[in-house]
Amino acid sequence: MTDRTDLPPRSTASCGADAVIAPPRPRREAADGDAAARWPLAAIEALFELPFADLMYRAQATHREHHPANAVQLSTLLSIKTGGCPEDCAYCPQSARYTTGVANEPLLDVAAVTAAASAARDAGATRFCMGAAWRSVKDRDLEPVLELVAAVKAMGLTTCCTLGMLKDGQAEKLKAAGLDFYNHNLDTAPDFYGDIVTTRDYDDRLATLARVRDAGLSVCCGGIVGMGESRRQRAGLIGQLANMDPYPESVPINHLVQVEGTPLATRLDGEPALDPLEFVRTIAVARITMPRAMVRLSAGRRELGEAVQALCFLAGANSIFYGDRLLTTGNPDVEADRALFAKLGLAAA
Ligand code: SF4
Repeated sequence: MTDRTDLPPRSTASCGADAVIAPPRPRREAADGDAAARWPLAAIEALFELPFADLMYRAQATHREHHPANAVQLSTLLSIKTGGCPEDCAYCPQSARYTTGVANEPLLDVAAVTAAASAARDAGATRFCMGAAWRSVKDRDLEPVLELVAAVKAMGLTTCCTLGMLKDGQAEKLKAAGLDFYNHNLDTAPDFYGDIVTTRDYDDRLATLARVRDAGLSVCCGGIVGMGESRRQRAGLIGQLANMDPYPESVPINHLVQVEGTPLATRLDGEPALDPLEFVRTIAVARITMPRAMVRLSAGRRELGEAVQALCFLAGANSIFYGDRLLTTGNPDVEADRALFAKLGLAAA
């Protein structure tokens, strides 16, 4: 899942889930010499190392081949169950292990969620994502979530949930209730993952993704950059995503938002922030390697500023989280986004 702002600072969570059709499981690595990988790690690293203008040119050409040039999808994310999560994701203010000022709140009811969905739709959003800070979904919690999904679907919005890990049969119930996408992020490359999360492993994530795909849901799966990973590890994350068969339909790319009280805020204190152009490169490489995916600017967008966001759109980003708040962190407000779209000649989709 992701986060929420102003309570305390901000963050970047990413529980999420995802999937792939039955037997074909997501490939674990796009390693050098892996002839079966469509995108060997070396090829992805080579993209990262292109001269910036060459990389942007290639990303923009790929983007225009597969998507309307100036259309950007508006998604709104609502935290339907905030805080109190038992997991230890080092970036996340919703973990019960860290003192971040995020309270453990109960699941929102249908009235609250449909009111938020209605406001999002009225503001122009076409996709509504519901996030719960759970390690996995208990059956007793799934039932009320199914009601939320059905209610939001009935409003004509594309639906997405991120609820943590799924057990057998749960993805099918979500699908039957009207869910379109399930989000479950990989967070980072396998060889950096243990530095960020220790309470569940990479294979747990891949297993949930497989359940999602098997159920016929579309997959939303991405990660977070700026957590202290190397460029090779950023390439490793993109390789994990791009070599899924099929790759995710929706790829959220988060820029870490350091939230006071989380381990990453301490660990990265005094360290240089990720170069914004490296974030733009990551977007471009995601676009080139996953040409049909919706590549979404997610957490951290406010901190990027208008010029870097414009470069991200040029690099092929074609979806944003829209609204004043993500799960627990801030987001550019709606008016600021409208002004930016007008300035760039972008149309909401
Ligand atoms: S700590 Fe919990 S809510 Fe936060 S990203 Fe991890 S699984 Fe999601």
